[in-house]
Amino acid sequence: MALVHELSWSSSRARMFHACKRRYYLQYYLAWGGWNRGASDERKRAYKLKKMTSMPMLAGDAVHSALEEWFQSRESGREFTREEVEAAALAILRRSYKESRDGAWRTNNKATRLSEHHYEEPKIDEASGAAAEYGTRYVERIKSAVATFFDSEDLAEVRAVEPKDYLAFEAMDTFTLFDTKIFAVPDLAYRRGEEVVIYDWKTGRPREADRYQLAIYTIYAREKWGVQPEQVETADAYLATDELEMARHTAADMVPVEERIEASITEMREVHFNADDSAGDPEAFPMVEAGSRECSMCNFRELCDRA
Ligand code: SF4
Repeated sequence: MALVHELSWSSSRARMFHACKRRYYLQYYLAWGGWNRGASDERKRAYKLKKMTSMPMLAGDAVHSALEEWFQSRESGREFTREEVEAAALAILRRSYKESRDGAWRTNNKATRLSEHHYEEPKIDEASGAAAEYGTRYVERIKSAVATFFDSEDLAEVRAVEPKDYLAFEAMDTFTLFDTKIFAVPDLAYRRGEEVVIYDWKTGRPREADRYQLAIYTIYAREKWGVQPEQVETADAYLATDELEMARHTAADMVPVEERIEASITEMREVHFNADDSAGDPEAFPMVEAGSRECSMCNFRELCDRA
């Protein structure tokens, strides 16, 4: 079935919309269809940049993937050891780094491409030794995350959940709110009696946006499993630093959250156009000021002369 361009919403999309409108345009509009052989060069270029990742994201994805395999192994009856989980995450990091450094993406669409390599950032220079130091930072981050997962008293219940009580892990799902498709990807959801518990694994530092995302998961649980907000416990587990932020919401708490989502969707609709029909007008999506921190981490730097 052919993909159709439509306005959907997620907390990460909303975050990008508010951080830099140009980045939002490049990510969700210009890059659309860039995977097609017959796409314009500008669409192909935007799509190629959109697909790049970075070492912090790669380390986070590696931990997510290895933990997902651990939960699957419990379901299959042959539970992976912590050593196997750590080795699996480190193998993803090392393989992906090598793919990026060696340019495997030139012949393999699925191969990893790091923005640090693409923009030839000094911190990833191998000759000076900077890359080894930079890479070690993420190896240590992965080791700390796996150690927290297996050692934290706070996560004892998570490790002991019976597989029959699993509801989802790493499952991209959608629900509809305000006539808009809303994306939700809970890292782990399980039943605790009449309650639903949802966890998100984090390998970075706590952010205010993380709390908002937990509130959105509470709405997701309501729509997906028919539970009241009071029956949902959500948590951000900051695995690299061994911190746990738990949240419970009431139905009344959900009112301002839904109002915020509705306002965000309304703002997005005001500038929305069908990217299947045209590439739109980039000037309708202003750039942030030059020198902004946002640019220093943005995959699209070269399109804005901010590389
Ligand atoms: S480089 Fe800066 S201005 Fe350009 S899209 Fe990225 S964040 Fe926005």
